[in-house]
Amino acid sequence: MRSSPVPPGCFLGPKSENAAWLRDQLDVVFDAWFEGRRRRFPGDDAQLAATDAGTCRRTAESLHALLAALDQEVPTYTPRYLGHMVSDPALPALLGHVAALLHNPNNTSREAAKVGTAIEAEAIAMLARMIGYDPSAARGHFTSGGTVANLEAVWRARFRLDHRLALGLALAEAEGRPLDVFAAAHMTEARFQERLAALGEEAAMRACSGVLNNPYEIAERLRRASGRPYRGPVIIAPGHRHYSWIKAANVFGLGEAACWTAPLDADGRLDAEGLMACIRRARAEHRPILMVVGVAGTTELGAIDPVDKVAGRLEALREAEDLDIWLHVDAAYGGFFCTLAADEPRLAPERRRALAAIRRADSVTVDPHKLGYVPYACGALLVRDSSRDAVSSFAAPYVERAELGEAPWTRTLEGSRPATGAAAVWMMGRSVGFGPEGLGAVLRGAIEGRAAIAEALAQLPDVRLLEPADTNILCFSIAAEGEALSAANARTSAAHAWFAASPNLSLSRTVLGTESAPDLVRRHVRSFRGRMESDRLVLLRCVVMNPLWGEADARARLLPQLVSELRSAIDAGAEAAGRRAAAPA
Ligand SMILES: *Cc1c(COP(=O)(O)O)cnc(C)c1O
Repeated sequence: MRSSPVPPGCFLGPKSENAAWLRDQLDVVFDAWFEGRRRRFPGDDAQLAATDAGTCRRTAESLHALLAALDQEVPTYTPRYLGHMVSDPALPALLGHVAALLHNPNNTSREAAKVGTAIEAEAIAMLARMIGYDPSAARGHFTSGGTVANLEAVWRARFRLDHRLALGLALAEAEGRPLDVFAAAHMTEARFQERLAALGEEAAMRACSGVLNNPYEIAERLRRASGRPYRGPVIIAPGHRHYSWIKAANVFGLGEAACWTAPLDADGRLDAEGLMACIRRARAEHRPILMVVGVAGTTELGAIDPVDKVAGRLEALREAEDLDIWLHVDAAYGGFFCTLAADEPRLAPERRRALAAIRRADSVTVDPHKLGYVPYACGALLVRDSSRDAVSSFAAPYVERAELGEAPWTRTLEGSRPATGAAAVWMMGRSVGFGPEGLGAVLRGAIEGRAAIAEALAQLPDVRLLEPADTNILCFSIAAEGEALSAANARTSAAHAWFAASPNLSLSRTVLGTESAPDLVRRHVRSFRGRMESDRLVLLRCVVMNPLWGEADARARLLPQLVSELRSAIDAGAEAAGRRAAAPA
C-alpha cells in the first residue's frame, strides 16, 4: 500500500509547528489588503482620523477577553479530539477564508461581488469535477452547510414536480380526461416539452401550479381531475438519513409524515430492493415522489449507500416506463472520498463503485466544512446541469442588471452570502488538489487511522466494534459476553460520561435504534451473545479526521494513550454499573 504523507504545510499542527510559515502568508494577505487601498484612487486625499485612544484601549481589552475565552474552546485541532466531524482546518483553506473575509464580498449578486462570484463559479466547478459531473454543464453554489444544501435540492426538485403536475392538470382539465397524478409527476423532460407544446400556452400551466397559487385549491382540482384525494408528495430517504430531511419535510410544508423511510440492509446501508418497494407503494397510493435520497457517508457511521444500484434501478425505470424520479445524493460527509483513487485499496470495491456513481444523481450535497478541511460555514449544492437548477423566479429590481445575467440570489435560499467558503475551496483545489495525491492523501490517512484504532481497541476486553466501518468513523460498544443490551448500553454511556469529563480525549456517543437499523443492531448484539431486551444500541463513536492519525510514527505514540484512556473509561463504567446494581431499589 502507498504511504499517506500529509501534504507538507497543509495544517498548523497541534504544537503550531507551521506557525512561522502561516504568519508569513498572513502578512502577505494583510500587506496586499493594505497596499491595495493605498494604490487605488491615488487622487483621493480624504483621510480617516486616527483611532482615538479610548477606542483603542477598549478594543484591546475586549480582544484580550475574547482571545482568553476562545483559548478555552473545545480543542478540536488535536489528534486527541475524535468526537465530531470537525478537525483542524487546512492552512490553504484558512488563508483563502481570511483573504476573502477582509475584502468582504457579498456573493448575493455579481454587481456587489464580481470577483467573489467568479471565484465561487470556479470553486463549484472544482467540486463538480471531483464528484464526476461535467464541470462545464454542472451548476451549484455554496451554502452555510449541508442542511441548507439539502433544502436547496428539495426546492429544485419541487420546482420540477410542480411544473409536471401543473401541466398534467392543465391538460386533463382542458381535454376532460382523467389525470394519472403519479405518471404526470414523473414525466420525462422530453415528454414535458412535448405536452407543453400541446397545451400551447404556459399561462394555463401557471394557473395550475400549487406553488404559485393556493395549494389547497390546486389539491382540490387534482382530486377532481384524478378522481381520488391528492395527498401530496413524499421524500424517500433511508433510515440513517440526516435530521435535515425531516427539517426539509417540515419547512416545505409536506408534513413530516411525508418523509418515508427506506429500509437498510444487514450491513446498515440503503437497501435498493426495499427502496423500490417504497417507490411501488408511492405509486400505488398515487403519491408523487419529490426525490429519492441516497447517503454517501452517513453522519453516524460514515457508511456509503449503494448509489450505483439506486441510480441503476431509477435509470431502468426511466427506460422501461418513462418515469423520471429525482435522485439526490447526500454526500455532505462523504463526498470528498471522491478524491481517492479509483482503485484505492482502503475502500471496498462496492464503496468505490458507489462513490463513482454519485455523478448519476440529479443533485448532490457536499460539505467542505467537514472532510474538505475548510472553516465554517461552507456547504455546497451541486446539480448536474442548468435544467436541474431552476427554482421559482422572483423580481428584485434593486439587485438586477440584465447585462450581468440571472443574479445568483434568485437561485439561493439564502440572501446575502459570503465568498469565504468559495475562496477556501478554491485555494484547496489549486494548492492541495482534490485528487489522490492531494486531499485524497489526507483522507487515505484518516481511513488508515480508523483501521489502526479499530485494531488496537479490538484487543481490549469487552470492546465490541460495530462492523462494517466503510470509512473513517469507528463505533463500538462496551459489553461483556452474554450481557443484556440495556446493561451494555449503561456501561457504554458511563464510559462516554467518563470521556466527557476527561480533558485528555474526546469521543462522541450515538444511538442506533431497531426501527432504523434493525439487522445491524441485532447482529452487533449477537456478536457478544447479548440479550436483545432493548430497542436501542448505545455506541461510542470516533471520527478520525486529524491528519496525524494518518502517520505511522504519530500513531505509534497516540495509540497507547488512547488504549489506556479507554481502559480507564471501561473500568469507571463497570464500577458505575456495579454501584447502580448494588444500590437499594
Ligand atoms: C453533516 C450532514 C448534514 C448537515 O450538514 P450541516 O453542514 O451540519 O448543515 C447533512 N447530511 C449529512 C449526511 C451530514 O453528515
